[in-house]
Amino acid sequence: MKTDLYSEFEIFPWNKNLDTGHTVIDEQHRTLVELLNRLARTLIDAEHSVINDAFDELAAYANWHFEDEEAIWRTYFKDNSWYSSHQLRHASFLPKVIELKEGDSGKPLADVIEQVIKFLIRWLAFHIIDDDKRMAFAVEAMASGVPIDEAKAIADNKMGGSMRILIETVLNMYDGLSSRTLDLLRERKARMKAEEELKEVNRKLEALSLTDQLTELFNRRHLYAIFDNESRRARRGKMQLAYYLIDIDYFKRFNDSYGHLCGDTALRQVANCLQDICRRPSDAAFRVGGEEFSILSVHYSAEDAMVFGERVRQSIEDLKIPHQCSDISEFITVSVGGACKVPSGEDTFDHFMAEADQRLYRAKSSGRNRVVMSG
Ligand code: GH3
Ligand code: MG
Ligand code: MG
Repeated sequence: MKTDLYSEFEIFPWNKNLDTGHTVIDEQHRTLVELLNRLARTLIDAEHSVINDAFDELAAYANWHFEDEEAIWRTYFKDNSWYSSHQLRHASFLPKVIELKEGDSGKPLADVIEQVIKFLIRWLAFHIIDDDKRMAFAVEAMASGVPIDEAKAIADNKMGGSMRILIETVLNMYDGLSSRTLDLLRERKARMKAEEELKEVNRKLEALSLTDQLTELFNRRHLYAIFDNESRRARRGKMQLAYYLIDIDYFKRFNDSYGHLCGDTALRQVANCLQDICRRPSDAAFRVGGEEFSILSVHYSAEDAMVFGERVRQSIEDLKIPHQCSDISEFITVSVGGACKVPSGEDTFDHFMAEADQRLYRAKSSGRNRVVMSG
């Protein structure tokens, strides 16, 4: 459970002064206090079902403990006013807690539970260090043969005077401590939330910085980032690594005659088409400039790489995007320059790029709408 992250937060730290000396009762008190701490920790994530479950568990345990504790005290204080008043205080506990929890239905559950927790801390601390301890003192005296009324007087005496002041001081300390712990819990939660949001923003930024916004293809930066890896892989597998530069023909005229918005749409269509062609995991398409794209892919042979380049060119022509101002076709076409080889250690990205660029230039100057992969 997420709340384990906050297990160091104890809204009600156990203190040995809370021990009554009765082993069974002390163990149950410790469990109660731990359940209370756990309930407080559920406030961090504020998931209703988790808060409610923790609350129900605490309430059920408190109920069971009260019965058990009463049975123990009854063996010493049967038919005595101390027993009946102690029982009454137990009996008033749960209704008060339920009233607090259900009474303020307009408020968020976490706020209501915070109120309940503050009440519980004060009630439990008082109950344990006053009521139960007083009874434990009396029982101790009775065990050494003192009659019950005298034992009660001894216990009252021990609980009075400076002990009273000590109890009040401790209760106030618990109040302050619990408020500060809750504040800390809230701060921790706010910080975790802020950190999560920051991570999300960073994830988005990272995704954005790898892709081109208009076409959603990878950008040049990503191409640089993956090239070395792809090159090593091709070298190991003795495969042909092919780098294609793909430039739309007469695109300036396209913009001039259809407008920039139509130009953007055409760029997206071309990009989608290139993305479709790059179906294999070893193929990737990029937008490397305005109307300039590239593909990095891997092939068994130089012929396969040539066939692939030709398929790229043909697929764009097959889109049949009208281009009334092109000198060479009714539709948008591309020129492709490709570099392809089994890369050696010396074949850097710049080397592939320069070769593809020269061949693209030749594809343009020799008539456009063609692929040049050699020479
Ligand atoms: P060539 O056949 O020689 O490649 O000619 P061209 O007109 O395609 O080449 P040129 O480099 O002269 O023009 C490229 C044009 O691409 C110019 C610019 O307006 C357009 N362009 C670049 N980026 C974008 C963009 O993001 N959106 C749109 N609509 N047009 C763009
Ligand atoms: Mg162009
Ligand atoms: Mg260009």
